[in-house]
Amino acid sequence: MEAKKLQALKQNNALLCQFIVRLSAFYEGFSDKLDDELRTLRGHLSGTPNFSLAAVSIEKLNKSLQHQEITLRKYSTDTLASLEDAMKQLQKIVFEDDELKTLTTKELIKINQPHNDIFGIYKLFTKAIALHRIALNKKMVGLQPTAVEQTTSTSQQTSAPQEENPHYRSILVELNQLIASYAQKKPNDKQLMEIKQRLEQGMDEDQLLKSCVVILRMIVQDAMSEASFTGKVIQSLHNSLGQLNDEVSESIKGSQNQFEQRKEGNELLKSHIDSIEEAVSVSDSLESLKEQAQFCVQNLVNTLSEQQTNDEQGQEALKALLSSMQAKINTLQQQTSVYKKKLAEQVMQSKTDSLTRLPNRQAYNEKLEEAFVQFKDSGEPLAVAVVDIDHFKSVNDRFGHAAGDKTLQVVSRFLKQHMTKPEFIARWGGEEFVMLFPNTTIEVVEEKLNEIRNKLASMPFKFKQEKVKITASFGATCFNSNDSTETVFERADEYLYQAKRDGRNRVITDLSTSQ
Ligand code: GH3
Ligand code: MG
Ligand code: MG
Repeated sequence: MEAKKLQALKQNNALLCQFIVRLSAFYEGFSDKLDDELRTLRGHLSGTPNFSLAAVSIEKLNKSLQHQEITLRKYSTDTLASLEDAMKQLQKIVFEDDELKTLTTKELIKINQPHNDIFGIYKLFTKAIALHRIALNKKMVGLQPTAVEQTTSTSQQTSAPQEENPHYRSILVELNQLIASYAQKKPNDKQLMEIKQRLEQGMDEDQLLKSCVVILRMIVQDAMSEASFTGKVIQSLHNSLGQLNDEVSESIKGSQNQFEQRKEGNELLKSHIDSIEEAVSVSDSLESLKEQAQFCVQNLVNTLSEQQTNDEQGQEALKALLSSMQAKINTLQQQTSVYKKKLAEQVMQSKTDSLTRLPNRQAYNEKLEEAFVQFKDSGEPLAVAVVDIDHFKSVNDRFGHAAGDKTLQVVSRFLKQHMTKPEFIARWGGEEFVMLFPNTTIEVVEEKLNEIRNKLASMPFKFKQEKVKITASFGATCFNSNDSTETVFERADEYLYQAKRDGRNRVITDLSTSQ
């Protein structure tokens, strides 16, 4: 009976040892600290168990477990909270994408359900990571729904950095325009030419930003040298005026002295004459009278010649002053005319588009105000047209930005050639132009625009040996009595977009819409 009991106890013991070995192996990887000790315990309990060594190991493990501050459940709860947080953020980012939004919401609901199973939590993690990866890939291609499948395949597409940033293209266009304007001013600037070349070859965002900084520096330097030129002219004016002032005061002082001397001279003359009179009245002999008269006359002659010399010197000084003033005025005139020319150039520059050399939007606004006043005063018809090159983006995309720029220049020149005074054309921005037709009926404007449109469409353009047709769409309208400059532009723009919608390469005016 005792032996039987002992046998059963041994069996239970062996079973318990096996169980402890398995359980400890299962938890391997849970904690670095426990792993080593559990491995030691397993060693003591496997094969022929050594219970006294196992007891030491169990004692150590007990202590370690007592000091384990965080339980698995607490750890899971914390982790789930941060997972929920991450998913909520993702939800905000993907709000424009219906598919991802639904997937993220479903996942959030799952995260919020109770979880007793650590493997279940792992699954949530895996799903969340997959969703983040999809969102990341979609973001790279502009959140286009078609990219969903691509993200799951191994051949994921990463687009060029410039496509990621929506501002890249507009900065590129601005930079191109700035460079075009500076290249004209400084055709031999090495740095500028380098940037121009690199722009044509394509730049990443980093290079683009660096180039912007270089151009900005150039603009600031230019502005500063303009300011110092203005400063120099003003300084020189100031100096010249100062000198003139000194010379005029000197001359006034000189004239005053001369006046004093003349006064003294006149008094002297008077006293000489008085003394002659006295000599005549008191003289007792002809001989002494003669002597005295000779003496007085000599004094008179001396005084008169002194006065004459004084007068001559005064006149010489005045002549010298006048000619020095003349020279200074000439220099001032030269300086101011250079300055005036430079100012006029600057005003012109500020109203001219640097790439196309057409008047810019500011110039258009000024012209429009003038024409509007004329329209109000005279009641003569006034029409506005808006022009937009069709599919211009594809010229850039297919043949490069430089080809796009060249096209803009050619089209601008062509349009300008077809405008006759007092008609006016300006570059509105990008590939859009705006035209003014004073004293012209809408019928005539429509006919004229159609002629321009047809001629442009038949103009030969060639890029990389490929013949390309360039067309444009037009919207034109006449001012009516309750129009403002804004409402007219809006109407012309609406017509332009109707022309685009109707298939491009067409003219839409008040006439087309009223028919
Ligand atoms: P639509 O027929 O609808 O007008 O199509 P579009 O491609 O002409 O119009 P969209 O507005 O999509 O594109 C205009 C393009 O013009 C985009 C821009 O990169 C380009 N662009 C604007 N300014 C310049 C410039 O100064 N130089 C060059 N090369 N491209 C420019
Ligand atoms: Mg456009
Ligand atoms: Mg266009």
